[in-house]
Amino acid sequence: MAIQLPAGLRPHLTEIEEALVDVKTVVLADSCYGACDIADSKAKQLGCDVLLHYGHADMGLRTCLPTLYVEARMNVDPAEAVEKALRVQKFKRLGIVTTVQHVGVLRQVENIVRSQGIEPLIGKPGPRAKYPGQILGCDWGAARSVAGRADAFLYVGTGRFHPLGVCMATGKEVVVANPVAKGSEKVTLDIERFLKGRRAAISRAAACDSFGILVSTKPGQARFKLATTLVSKFKSAGLDARVLAMDEITPEKLGDFTRLGAFVCAACPRIVIDDAERFDRPVLTPFEAMAMLGKASIEPYQMDEVLSSDF
Ligand code: SF4
Repeated sequence: MAIQLPAGLRPHLTEIEEALVDVKTVVLADSCYGACDIADSKAKQLGCDVLLHYGHADMGLRTCLPTLYVEARMNVDPAEAVEKALRVQKFKRLGIVTTVQHVGVLRQVENIVRSQGIEPLIGKPGPRAKYPGQILGCDWGAARSVAGRADAFLYVGTGRFHPLGVCMATGKEVVVANPVAKGSEKVTLDIERFLKGRRAAISRAAACDSFGILVSTKPGQARFKLATTLVSKFKSAGLDARVLAMDEITPEKLGDFTRLGAFVCAACPRIVIDDAERFDRPVLTPFEAMAMLGKASIEPYQMDEVLSSDF
């Protein structure tokens, strides 16, 4: 059996192994950021007959080995943080979103919201999510499905990427209830500032004539069809472009491609939004690339999301 764990769960490896009595195991120690990064092929190559993937929910990818998903749940009571968040301002209807680590408390959160006289709205999962209300950095479907009826969103969880993503994908304010820090904050994205940064990246890229279209070989990020379509569109516009495939996309790996002026990321959508500053050259989303080529308008801005038609 192969065991695959994200970084945050690796300190618990020995507890996991102790529970697997009489099972020969091998630990896959490469980075693992999501269920998009399922290592079934590597496990098979090592002669394993089953993969145990910890931390993330199944996003429906086909695997070459039987794969067991053990979803991580954070065992923290959200009540205090949610009550604080609801004091931030008055709402009539509130969309509720979270990540897989907190989906288990969504009913409790819904009841707290209702007890304050606010109508809770929990959206249907998008194509990559498993649970109502669950969002991913590549799938904002659960937020978008209720955005038309919600005054704002309540995000239950940690970190800033997901609340900012909900702001961008829906245009609504997001109030964060952080059950770990037991705190709350209002996240209002400065859309003008965000767009200014993205427009600047597009104009820097537009001054280049040679591009790399990035795909990852991680099964759920290998948007090869999208990448080859982009290469054709760049070539039709008289620009030089090719697909660069790699497992993990890092500035170091791109460093040797000194003749390429800019990149388009057809892998994980988080790379462009979260990591843009780490790269020494512009990295655009596929939507931004289309805007650069004059085939889309930058407003309304579209967050990059992974679709089955990308593969
Ligand atoms: S946001 Fe990126 S890392 Fe997370 S599941 Fe989606 S593709 Fe994978």
